[in-house]
Amino acid sequence: MKFATEFRDPAKAKKVLAAIERTLRGIELPENRPLHIMEVCGGHTHSVFRYGLHELVPDAIEFVHGPGCPVCVLPMGRVDDCIAIAERKDVIFTTFGDAMRVPGSKKSLMQAKAEGADIRMVYSPLDALDLARHYPDREIVFFGLGFETTMPSTALTILEAERDDVQNFSMICQHITIIPTLKALLDDPDTEIDGFIGPGHVSMVIGIDGYRFIAETHKKPLVVAGFEPLDILQSLWMVLVQLEERRAAVENQYARVVPHAGNPAALAAIDRVFAPRDQMEWRGLGMIPQSGACIRKAYAKFDAEKKFGLVPANVPDPEICRCGEVVKGQMKPAQCPAFGKACTPDVPLGALMVSSEGACAAHYRYARQGLPEQSNAALDA
Ligand code: SF4
Repeated sequence: MKFATEFRDPAKAKKVLAAIERTLRGIELPENRPLHIMEVCGGHTHSVFRYGLHELVPDAIEFVHGPGCPVCVLPMGRVDDCIAIAERKDVIFTTFGDAMRVPGSKKSLMQAKAEGADIRMVYSPLDALDLARHYPDREIVFFGLGFETTMPSTALTILEAERDDVQNFSMICQHITIIPTLKALLDDPDTEIDGFIGPGHVSMVIGIDGYRFIAETHKKPLVVAGFEPLDILQSLWMVLVQLEERRAAVENQYARVVPHAGNPAALAAIDRVFAPRDQMEWRGLGMIPQSGACIRKAYAKFDAEKKFGLVPANVPDPEICRCGEVVKGQMKPAQCPAFGKACTPDVPLGALMVSSEGACAAHYRYARQGLPEQSNAALDA
């Protein structure tokens, strides 16, 4: 297949759904619940809801939504850290659009901007570096977040800043890594996951071998998947085939994009600039050892936390929030008492309602609107 529309072909989707139903008959199902298949990545969550795949698959299968949306796991305290720096008169603060809407304990970056802070949305860390060249009398701070997918671009930006001796550029590093997080998730005794649809974008960088512990130690299948509806359905079927054959392996449905070994040049850039952080706080998941990155000492002059003497804020989530349970797949978005009431995409209380990749935002936008008719229309689009 060459074009995106071919990955949305309803006739082909029906054939894969028929194969899913056939394969399901050969699987011994859990006694008191459906099969839980976690899509780790927020991009997959968005596709599942956008195309109504959760309505199209048999009732015996339930998609559970994982922690793979970096905005969704951004702790409130970290937003407060950003605002503390962004409100300095000498600073132009830059970040991606979604990060500006995540609530802190008192306000979001967007609200701080409305109150007068010089906060600007950028599409790339290189845009922030350009600002530093353009405004030599201001301090330009970039809030860099994301999994290994976005780490190469921030690493290369820091290397470029070093090469050009840019003195007024620095970065708050909020990069997180997927493998320790999946380990923590699987070590949680309350987690019930039967198989994984593995992240596509992250795997482009890290490859697929890092997931082997999921199959070898935890005996769960994982299939790295693309983002179109047929990608996800085929990956689900591949997970089910493994369950039917009582085996667990790491497989790659997205081989047209994801090389087995990842991207060595990107990995080398990451390794040069970033070191593992001892502890990283995840919204809803708490502290996970070695699950984040910090800027290496060799590039410390670009580390905004050191440059501005930042003392990290530690802020608990509001009591009503159930972001943690949702992100671990232990609760559906609509089961949170704030869903659609105190928490909506326009006025998000939790970070899962901010990004279009957040489970709550995707659920709010698509799943509550009377599917499956719309989902079939989406497949036709
Ligand atoms: S509805 Fe809002 S508060 Fe509740 S889990 Fe979702 S994002 Fe968090």
